[in-house]
Amino acid sequence: MARIILGLGSNLGRREGNLKRAVRELTAAGIRVLKVSRPTASAPAEGVGGGEFLNAALLAETNLEPEALLDLLQRTEARLGRPASHRPGEARTIDLDIIYYRDRRLETERLKLPHPRRLQRRFVLEPAAEVAPDFVDPELNLTLEEIARHENRQ
Ligand code: AMP
Repeated sequence: MARIILGLGSNLGRREGNLKRAVRELTAAGIRVLKVSRPTASAPAEGVGGGEFLNAALLAETNLEPEALLDLLQRTEARLGRPASHRPGEARTIDLDIIYYRDRRLETERLKLPHPRRLQRRFVLEPAAEVAPDFVDPELNLTLEEIARHENRQ
């Protein structure tokens, strides 16, 4: 089983309910969820429309390969009401990202690992450090706790 960290976000509808439902759906699909962070609120980033976001991270294990995991996340987004043809700036019922897949580094058109914007996003980094403080970022060679602590000083 591969250890993974996923990022979850919602800024439309019953946000906390959407995060919980996403965790339930992923569990039902065979993802072994080990830990879910507390939800944290943040302003919409990078020109995304709509209201304040609620974000969370989860630590889990899966037998799926990265591309199959991304397929599952996108199917789950669709089931929770996010249209597949969403425009980049639209408010979203649920946004599911792979932040880390073990120490895998990958760069295809469809999938980049680890997630390229994880370090700039406090709403990703802090929940990730909460669920897996000892997890080592494969690019920085620092634990998530060390990275989050460093970010907090800036
Ligand atoms: P978003 O609209 O923010 O959910 O972005 C989704 C797009 O990012 C999809 O087209 C994915 O193929 C792509 N993508 C690249 N790397 C990742 C990743 N690590 N996790 C999730 N989506 C990714």
